[in-house]
Amino acid sequence: MSVLVYIEPHEGGFKKKNFEAVNYAAQTAQSFGGQVIAFVAGTVSDDAASSLGKYGADKVVVAKDASFATFNPSGFAAAIEKVADANGAAIFVFPADLTGKSLAPVLAAKLNAGLISGAVAYPTQEDGLVAKKTVFSGKAFAFVKIKSDKKVITFVPNSNAVVENNKSATLESYTEAANNKHNITKVSEDVLKGEVPLSEAELVVSGGRGLKGPENWGILEDLAKTIGASLACSRPVADSHWRPHNEHVGQTGGTIRPNLYIAVGISGAIQHLAGVNNSKTIVVINKDPEAPFFKAADYGVVGDLFEVVPKLTEAMKKYKNN
Ligand code: FAD
Repeated sequence: MSVLVYIEPHEGGFKKKNFEAVNYAAQTAQSFGGQVIAFVAGTVSDDAASSLGKYGADKVVVAKDASFATFNPSGFAAAIEKVADANGAAIFVFPADLTGKSLAPVLAAKLNAGLISGAVAYPTQEDGLVAKKTVFSGKAFAFVKIKSDKKVITFVPNSNAVVENNKSATLESYTEAANNKHNITKVSEDVLKGEVPLSEAELVVSGGRGLKGPENWGILEDLAKTIGASLACSRPVADSHWRPHNEHVGQTGGTIRPNLYIAVGISGAIQHLAGVNNSKTIVVINKDPEAPFFKAADYGVVGDLFEVVPKLTEAMKKYKNN
């Protein structure tokens, strides 16, 4: 059963989550015995397209029509169905990012397929397709089974290592337009340039209401810059417009799995933990020793963040200079 993986190119190239997606599809194809078809929704060079072979793609189909420059779930889903039918693909893999989370359900509804959203491990074949995901705001795992003929999965980026091999992929073009059935018009677009997207960041420095106001974010920015981390925040911080909403993590924000999550002045409410408690190492800085976040922490510092964070930044600068 071949696997189609959705790839959203970025400025003519790819990001780490795209390679992870191809790896995820390759592992899935190994269990289900098929090929990996990477569908690239937008123009990229032939070199870039064939580089997906290194991550496990057997064939890369590049959508070349200009209509693919604007995200359009129904049009993209129709194109994915056509490419899948032409290649015998019945399993569909998407990263659980903004576009993946929006496109996967549209495709699943169109194909009458079962959908598992937010898988955190490779799926296995057990009288259907079974994948592990977190439930109850990250408090438990569930193993969910899809028994329909067609199967759609989104996986949480940063859940799995990116592995390279010596494989090469064949290239094909998809020249049809993405028929925009729902007449979506893009009104504006905010593109964050030069930053690692939060969903892919390996290191994250995150701030909560303990910072007291947006004017104090400089100390977190210094720390983040020093260690090469991305910034995140709790929901009230974004709701109060101290920070942009794309930095908000938790049950109603982004779900991330960085190698290191440094939580500064965040209490650790269950809704916040839902988005971050699968981080590999959690460091909590809070002046209240009873803050719930300490229960989820690997390392904790009880202290005033306005003293602790600048000292940590200084120590990291010294460490880097030696
Ligand atoms: P607070 O709870 O006010 O905590 C501030 C912390 O800073 C405290 O622990 C305090 O001890 C510490 N502090 C204060 N001053 C200092 C200092 N000088 N030095 C060190 N520490 C200091 N929240 C999310 O984050 N993400 C979500 O997705 C989310 N979704 C929600 C969904 C629902 C349906 C609901 C009901 C709530 C949701 N929330 C979410 C809100 C959540 O319940 C908490 O209210 C929120 O996470 C608290 O944010 P905070 O930790 O920044 O603020």
